[in-house]
Amino acid sequence: MELQTLFPEILVIGAGPGGAAAAWSLARDGHDVLMIDRSEFPRDKTCGDGLTPMAVSTLRSMEVLNKIAEVNPSIIERVRMVGPFGAEVDLAFRDYMPDSQHHALVLPREAFDDILRRHALAAGASFMGHTTVEEIEMAADRVNRVVASSPDGKFVIEAKQVVIAVGANIGLLRRCGFLKHKPLLIRASRGYFSGVDMPANRYDFFLIMSYYLAMDGSSQLETGERISAQGSCLRFGAPIKPHGTCWMVLLRVVHARP
Ligand SMILES: Cc1cc2nc3c(=O)[nH]c(=O)nc-3n(C[C@H](O)[C@H](O)[C@H](O)COP(=O)(O)OP(=O)(O)OC[C@H]3O[C@@H](n4cnc5c(N)ncnc54)[C@H](O)[C@@H]3O)c2cc1C
Repeated sequence: MELQTLFPEILVIGAGPGGAAAAWSLARDGHDVLMIDRSEFPRDKTCGDGLTPMAVSTLRSMEVLNKIAEVNPSIIERVRMVGPFGAEVDLAFRDYMPDSQHHALVLPREAFDDILRRHALAAGASFMGHTTVEEIEMAADRVNRVVASSPDGKFVIEAKQVVIAVGANIGLLRRCGFLKHKPLLIRASRGYFSGVDMPANRYDFFLIMSYYLAMDGSSQLETGERISAQGSCLRFGAPIKPHGTCWMVLLRVVHARP
């Protein structure tokens, strides 16, 4: 059976911050942009929810900061880092980043990503949620066509240009040949906590790092061979709201065999 085919000028796969910012920029320049995502929005994403001062600068240049302000993000002016042996440093962004915004922000990805996506729509991009790219067919070094599926069934998209912004969807990137090797495996979990007593305008990072190498030698780290290394990093971030929410991220890194 012949599949229905769409012909947008530019297809953006993935409507996270990367895809939405690309779609916004291209649509603002007058291009016909279709953005698709396997999720319906708003959707959550495991993340620390922190936007650095440089990210805030970029968002200002995208003229979207006013929409972010409407959801009342935490404004972060300082960062404190505590090392594994108790050494600590407390810095004000203003003293170290004179050319960028003097503050960072914290807001949930569920809100942030949807604001950026809607910003792209306001610039003229169109969006299809619940639409998963299953195959990207290449011809030489170009994307020839994309096969996607939605609740209405499979269809084909043939675009002049394709932006692949699927984040850490390693499976798709490997199937398409963009990722030659299996990257490091990272497991993360994120949670929000209430009633945590922390200063409202500061990121606090508590770092706990440990690496256990089964074999010695840095060359093994480069090749990834015979490595059984693991590290853990415990981070407490800024409280998000006056009610004292904070986030915590646990990372465990395992070097995969190539
Ligand atoms: C635990 C953790 C904490 C983090 N903390 C921070 C932080 O505090 N600050 C920060 O700046 N960054 C942080 N990051 C990194 C940040 O999450 C990523 O850099 C960011 O999400 C990348 O944006 P993106 O648009 O490239 O991808 P994503 O945000 O991952 O978006 C990709 C989109 O593509 C869609 N997609 C994937 N595959 C398909 C497919 N086949 N078909 C259709 N759609 C598809 C997904 O549904 C998704 O919406 C953290 C990451 C982790 C894991």
